[in-house]
Amino acid sequence: MLAGPTAVGKGTVVRAVRRQHPQVWVSVSATTRPPRPGERHGEHYRFVSESEFDQLVADDALLEWALVHGRARYGTPRRPVEHALAEGRRALLEIDLQGARQVRRSMPGALFVFLGPPSWDELVRRLVGRGTEDVAERDRRLATARAELAAEPEFDVSIVNADVRRAADELVELWG
Ligand code: 5GP
Repeated sequence: MLAGPTAVGKGTVVRAVRRQHPQVWVSVSATTRPPRPGERHGEHYRFVSESEFDQLVADDALLEWALVHGRARYGTPRRPVEHALAEGRRALLEIDLQGARQVRRSMPGALFVFLGPPSWDELVRRLVGRGTEDVAERDRRLATARAELAAEPEFDVSIVNADVRRAADELVELWG
């Protein structure tokens, strides 16, 4: 399970894992946020409406879910994860801190990996550089990132995302 502050590059590292280590099964989250340019339904996320998300929650179809940045809801569909694990596959979940805490309770055997930035300044640069959010949204994400950085000691392992390929390799090596 990979968590870490916003804009640290979790998505990029997960994409590198998919490319470099296709044997790893990667969970596709459901979200109520609209797609960004280039994002495809079923590949990056399952983009669902608020009522569809309500239904997933009501059906207990999510392993965990959270309202992220006070904006959109994100959740991990339960069935595909259980299926991958039953097949003996290595499963990777990319989630936020609130979600990680829920999974800690329901899957105590999972390994919790914290992806950190090389520095706070670099995190801010990445957040600004992405340029996909307006100022209010960026401030909200920075506030979330500060709280998330403080949670690093809750995790089993930390990886610094200075180099995407290396971070992806380090992550996969944790399975041994
Ligand atoms: P973004 O909108 O930039 O793709 O993602 C925003 C945040 O949502 C990231 O911090 C990401 O880790 C988190 N996130 C993505 N999928 C899930 C999920 O299934 N569950 C939870 N709890 N957080 C998620």
